[in-house]
Amino acid sequence: MIRDPEQEEMVPARRKIASRERKPEASGRGRSPARKPAPKTPRRSGAIPRRTGKAHRLPTGVFPRAVELDLEVDPSKSKSFNGEVALDLHLESRRRSIELHAAELRVSRARLETEGRTWRGRIELHPERETIEVHFDRPIPAGEATLRLAFAGKLRSDLRGLYAARSERRSYAFTQLEAADARRFFPCFDEPAMKARFRVSVATGAGNEVVSNSPVEKVEPLGGGRKRVRFMPTPPLSTYLLALAVGELEASPPTRCGPTEIRVWHVPGKGALTAFALEAARETLARLEAYFDLAYPYQKLDLVAVPDFEAGAMENAGAVFFRETLLLVDPETVTLQEKKRVAEVICHELAHMWYGDLVTMAWWNDLWLNESFATWMAFHVVDAWKPEWRMWHDFQHHRSAALAMDALRHSHPIYTEVRSPEEAAQNFDLITYEKGASVVRMIERYLGAETFRAGVRTYLRRHQESNAVAADLWRALSEASQQEVEPIVRAWIEQQGFPLLGIRRGERGGRTLLRFRQERFWESPASGSAAKRSSERKEEPSRWPIPWVGRVARAGERTSTERYLVERVRDELVLEGEPARFVYGNADEGGFFRPLHDPEELRALGEELGALCAVERMGLLGHQWAIVRAGRAKIDAFLDLAMAFRAEGDPDVLTTLRAPLSFTRRQIASPLGDGMEAALMRRIVHEFGGAFAALGWDPAAREDDEIRLRRAALLALVGEVGESEPVLRAATARCLAYLDDRRSLDPNLADSVVNLAARRGDASLLDRFLAAAKAAETPQERRRFLMALGEFQERDLVERTLVLSLTDAVGTQDVAILLSRMLANPSAGERTWEFMKKRWAALCRRMPPMLITRPIEATPHLGSRAARRDVASFFRAHPVPTGARAVRQALERFDLNLAFQVRATPALRRWLAAGGRPRSAGAEEVRTPERAIDAG
Ligand SMILES: [Zn+2]
Repeated sequence: MIRDPEQEEMVPARRKIASRERKPEASGRGRSPARKPAPKTPRRSGAIPRRTGKAHRLPTGVFPRAVELDLEVDPSKSKSFNGEVALDLHLESRRRSIELHAAELRVSRARLETEGRTWRGRIELHPERETIEVHFDRPIPAGEATLRLAFAGKLRSDLRGLYAARSERRSYAFTQLEAADARRFFPCFDEPAMKARFRVSVATGAGNEVVSNSPVEKVEPLGGGRKRVRFMPTPPLSTYLLALAVGELEASPPTRCGPTEIRVWHVPGKGALTAFALEAARETLARLEAYFDLAYPYQKLDLVAVPDFEAGAMENAGAVFFRETLLLVDPETVTLQEKKRVAEVICHELAHMWYGDLVTMAWWNDLWLNESFATWMAFHVVDAWKPEWRMWHDFQHHRSAALAMDALRHSHPIYTEVRSPEEAAQNFDLITYEKGASVVRMIERYLGAETFRAGVRTYLRRHQESNAVAADLWRALSEASQQEVEPIVRAWIEQQGFPLLGIRRGERGGRTLLRFRQERFWESPASGSAAKRSSERKEEPSRWPIPWVGRVARAGERTSTERYLVERVRDELVLEGEPARFVYGNADEGGFFRPLHDPEELRALGEELGALCAVERMGLLGHQWAIVRAGRAKIDAFLDLAMAFRAEGDPDVLTTLRAPLSFTRRQIASPLGDGMEAALMRRIVHEFGGAFAALGWDPAAREDDEIRLRRAALLALVGEVGESEPVLRAATARCLAYLDDRRSLDPNLADSVVNLAARRGDASLLDRFLAAAKAAETPQERRRFLMALGEFQERDLVERTLVLSLTDAVGTQDVAILLSRMLANPSAGERTWEFMKKRWAALCRRMPPMLITRPIEATPHLGSRAARRDVASFFRAHPVPTGARAVRQALERFDLNLAFQVRATPALRRWLAAGGRPRSAGAEEVRTPERAIDAG
């Protein structure tokens, strides 16, 4: 699954995570034949504690082999559906009852066939554990049996299970079953290790198309304008990977990757938007097959654009579902960023066809096995396909968000114990995806690309069509590399947080000596000293084996990299060769840690910023900002460093500045009043306005992508953060022209221009945005105008948008994201929070369980202590099962922001009063990082 439907938000409070600090105790007890004991992983031996409620796990001893699922679904005729399911089971021993999942379904007519006999069953409901239990009068013998059940349900409205969706006047039914909603679709053994072969058939209106995991075997006319579509049997699949789409859909002409036929499905009239997705699917599928050295495991590949969808995309085997924005693009008007994201998401989902679908985690504890790997693989493969896209720059943005989250007290380990579906849902987060992918990347770099790939190939072959746990992957990687991988990886997977790696450069015998010192990095200075106190009490400190790669510049050379495994809290390394001019402590930002350079090193780095690659400059900025937030340096030093990037050529480095500068403006300067905010905005415009003006609004003929993106990044700084009046006026004029003619504006500027116009916009502009969203020709355009509603500032318009959020003008998939935008809008935040409290019940019906965390995560934008108290008490009174962690995180973020505001105020005042010249007046602008560190 791709969890994050809106990636462009890079504000500091974007995403956070939290959980109880609890030792993992038990992994899946899947009984896949391929699983072997791994003595070094104690959690595998633990039994799953029997729990009641939603934490319930099915009893062992009954396993599905094959499932025949016959459905009747016609969303244009009925809001209900029904069906019959025949489950071929293997019973390990005699038993009088069989328990399986079913939730919010009416289940009836239980019959069991075995040894030529039919047994009637009595159904007992266990709604609290989302199961039914079928009881029999006499014990059923061990062996094979077929359980038949009839069932019926309502098409849901919350984008999970089998749900209803609309596009214009057409009605559809789609499935979204991960993590545990197959049980809302049909009675089943809804745990990932319970794989079975599925044979699906659907009776529906003759005018509907039906898409499922397998190719259509035959279509039988039923009379009365109806038909039954029968699909071929699937290979063994976990229930969460089943897919069904029913309604008036159109398919693109197929393209091929080897023998695999690839099509894009969409609501009628969008055929012109499918070419890029087909190309990206074909190109990345071929590269994935080559990487895994294993053919695509399913019979065909359908990519389905779903008009209302909770996640970004979902890796249903052979029938991948997407939000429309992440699949359908118009090559004429799409921004490069949107296009890259589409390719990345497609590749992520296709990587899952092997990693997740073919080999599946035994239980949700190891969700990261799926998601970390697919996330890493997508960047790896798309980067190989389109090196000019600099995919690792995008990854760096995501990674830095994960670093920010993992510095919280309420973060959690990548490997997390999961007892219930709600807990599983909470793990689709930055830690599982981006931290996980960073760790995969670090291990790949440490072992070497070919060795790592060999291990992955072994792992997939060994466990195909079955399940696996983390230890299975470590074993395969250890075999491939002939070294013990597990101790290194487990430290990263099972420990929360990450290290701050102090690096001090000295000299020994004419060579460069590096002294390392690691400690856990905390965002909160208080937590940091608590950790210090605890280590003084001789409690075992967190420690990581760090596969360190540094960038080293020696006399007479540009730079090279050095590798070393830092295994101890204090460690040292002597570098061979000429003495180093400088050492940057995280080459290519390949490691999931923050380097802490001493002041001399920062000065040396500052003099040669150009010798760092762009991703390292992004990293340097991110690390220095984090170090300021953690109370180890002053904000004025960071601001000096930031301003030193005024002439930066790389758009992604410029984009890295946006979140810290925006935070400084909104959360530190603005609450101070007395003109501080305006002074900061003027300063940002002063520093970056020149570069923007030099580029102008209109691209030169044949201008390359990098310059277009640089213009967009500068516009975000000067317009969105600095709010330059002339730029805002120009943006409004450009926006009006853009409304009339989409080709009047470089697409890369469209988001900023539309958002900026909204800030000064009136009711007539809001009407035009609404109309534009409704009539939009592409999903991206629709999203752009719809989300910009959250940027309006006039009180009446804020009210109007809030009311709209309860209507069909805003799709169920978009409500949560729009509200989080409004919470982040200082003119709308308080009003939005009041509205949310008042209409919470109604809003909850329009915010699916995973997206509901988004507005919770945005609450720290409200900023004040009073708001923090209010948010805490509201969610105490209105607990959100899938958002418990998000609430804890939001409150922690509130506290950190408030404390940071107090701490940063004097230095910000000083810096603004100094009027824009670094205090080291006359120094090279790039020399300022020396002051970014004032402690150890
Ligand atoms: Zn995924």
